[in-house]
Amino acid sequence: MPILKDIRQLAVCPSEGGQAEIGLIDDAALVWQGGRIVWVGKEEELPAEFASEQVFSAQQGLVIPGLIDCHTHLAFGGWRAAEFEMRILGKPYVEIAAAGGGIASTVRATREASEEELFLRCMQHLENIAELGVTTLECKSGYGLTVADELKLLRVYKRLQNAQPLGIVSTFLGAHTVPREYKDDRERYLELVVKEMIPEVASEGLAIFCDVFVEQGAFSVEEARQVLEAASASGMKAKLHVDQLSSGGGAELAASLGAVSADHLEFVSDNGVEAMKQSGAVAVTLPLASLYTFQKPLDARRFIDAGVPVAVATDFNPGTAPSFHLPMVMMLACTANRMTPAEAVKGATIYAAQAIALAGEIGSLEVGKQADFAILQAESIDQWLYHFTSNACVKTVKAGQVMYERH
Ligand SMILES: [Zn+2]
Repeated sequence: MPILKDIRQLAVCPSEGGQAEIGLIDDAALVWQGGRIVWVGKEEELPAEFASEQVFSAQQGLVIPGLIDCHTHLAFGGWRAAEFEMRILGKPYVEIAAAGGGIASTVRATREASEEELFLRCMQHLENIAELGVTTLECKSGYGLTVADELKLLRVYKRLQNAQPLGIVSTFLGAHTVPREYKDDRERYLELVVKEMIPEVASEGLAIFCDVFVEQGAFSVEEARQVLEAASASGMKAKLHVDQLSSGGGAELAASLGAVSADHLEFVSDNGVEAMKQSGAVAVTLPLASLYTFQKPLDARRFIDAGVPVAVATDFNPGTAPSFHLPMVMMLACTANRMTPAEAVKGATIYAAQAIALAGEIGSLEVGKQADFAILQAESIDQWLYHFTSNACVKTVKAGQVMYERH
C-alpha cells in the first residue's frame, strides 16, 4: 500500500461546498491501494496500520487531484498557423476561409489523414499533456463530417484508451459544422448525422456524449434539439457548444435537454444562467478560445454567484485554441474570466469530472476515488497560478501508477 508523505499542502477538491472550497490540508499524507485512495488526511494523524508501508515523499510539493481537460478536439489533421497571422491582422473569417483556411481546411486535412497517422499524433500530444499533471481528457470528433471519417476519429480515441495511461472520454460531434459538399442542402447533412452517424457510433459504442455547435453559421437550437434527442435515444448524453458569439438561447436548450454541460457561454443570457442552475448543468469556460478569436471572455462570476459550477478546459483545436496547456488555461480563467486560483482548481478537477459525468470516480482526493493526482513544485495554489511558469508539475500519477516524473 503506497503512501505519499511530506506534502506541503493537499487540495481535496470535494463536490460539496462552493466553487472556492478546495479543502486544503497542510502537512498531508495520501494512501492508496489497487489504484484507489484508502486514506487522506494530516500526516501526523496517519493510522498506525500504515506504519510499515512503502513510503514516497512529495518533497514539500503541493498535491492536487489529476487535472481533467473536459473539452478538447484532440484528433485532427494539419495545423492553421497561417490563419493565426490573418486573424491577428484583423482579416474577416470569410476572407480566411476564401484563402483556404478556416474549419474546412482542417476537415480536408483530417479526411486525408489515416487512422494510424491521427493515432500517432494524439499519442505524442498525450505524452506532453501528461507532463502537465493532466490525467483525463474529453475528446471530440467533428473534423471528419462523413460517416467513415467521424468513425475514424472515434476509433482513434478508442485505441488511445488502451494504448496509454491517460483516461479518454469520447464525444461525437458530427454536428460541428455543415461540410462544404452539403452547404446548399443542410437538411440532407442533418439527416446523415441523425440517421447514419448516430446509429453507427452507438452500435460500435464509440461515444459517451453527443455535442452540437449551436451558433449562427453552424446549427440552430431546433436542429441541435433534433440531433441530441436522436443521440439520447441511442444512449448518448448531451453536451453543447453554445452562446459563443451571440446569445442564441443555447444555455436554455442545454438545460431543457438535461445536458451535462454547456460550453463557451460568453454571451449567455440571465435566463440561461438561471435555467442551468435549475437543471444542474456545468458551465464550461474556454478562455483560450476567446483570446485567440479576440472575443469577449466569459464573466465566470455570473455563474459562480448564481451557484452554477464552472469547469475550465482548453478547447484544444487547430483553429481557435491551438494549445493543450491546461494549467496555462487555468491561469487565463483567473485573469480573463475572473475566477480565483482556488476556483480555477475546482474547475479543472471535480467540476470538470462532473462535466463528463465521472464525478463519482475521479476529480477529488477522497477515499474510494481513483488515485489520480499531480505533485506541483509551488508554495501554494495562489502562487502556482500567479507566478506562472512553463510547468510546475513534477509527477503525474494515474490510478496509483506514475505516468510522468521530472528527472
Ligand atoms: Zn470546442
